[in-house]
Amino acid sequence: MTHRAVVLLSGGLDSSTCLAWGIREGLECHALSFDYGQRQLQELNAARAIAKALGASSHRVLRFDLRAIGGSALTDDIEVPKHRTIGEIGQGIPITYVPARNTIFLSYALALAEVIGADRLLIGVNALDYSGYPDCRPEFIAAFESMANLGSRFVQTPEARLQILTPLIAMTKAEIVRLARSLGVPIELTFSCYDPSESGEPCGQCDACLLRAKGLEEA
Ligand code: ZN
Repeated sequence: MTHRAVVLLSGGLDSSTCLAWGIREGLECHALSFDYGQRQLQELNAARAIAKALGASSHRVLRFDLRAIGGSALTDDIEVPKHRTIGEIGQGIPITYVPARNTIFLSYALALAEVIGADRLLIGVNALDYSGYPDCRPEFIAAFESMANLGSRFVQTPEARLQILTPLIAMTKAEIVRLARSLGVPIELTFSCYDPSESGEPCGQCDACLLRAKGLEEA
């Protein structure tokens, strides 16, 4: 039996690799992206291009406004930190953390899963070479999975639980790059920068750009 999956797709390297992985695993992958008021909209264009290039079964872009809450360099008038070392990036919760973002994203993914009959959620979180986001940790994902099975239609079918798959969670950035290449992800179409120029060029200096460059170099 083919499992249907909702794949969170930001348009960055990690989520794009996650989508390609799901398709290779034989899942029927439905991509879900969010226009939540983030400063960088290039990633949504990247998400559209990637969903098409990889052959997602469908792609939705959901709109809501996290700028009304703010509190992050991605959704508020707060400067994106630049030139941090890899050591600095790994310490504490950075200002680019968007409060409760993955909780909100996974909640929408759960809602869509219920409607289209998907029993898998795919999210490209990474707990190793990660940028200090508490909602990327395995403990959080496990807790969300338990919660999702308690507060949805899945409660009626204990034998068919919703599972959250996190294929990248224990990988280094270099390993993710190698996986992306082996799966034929068009890496040049992916977009990770937190603070691109007005013409859409990545800054090369934010945490996302630095982690991506490190991964590409090491791979
Ligand atoms: Zn950048």
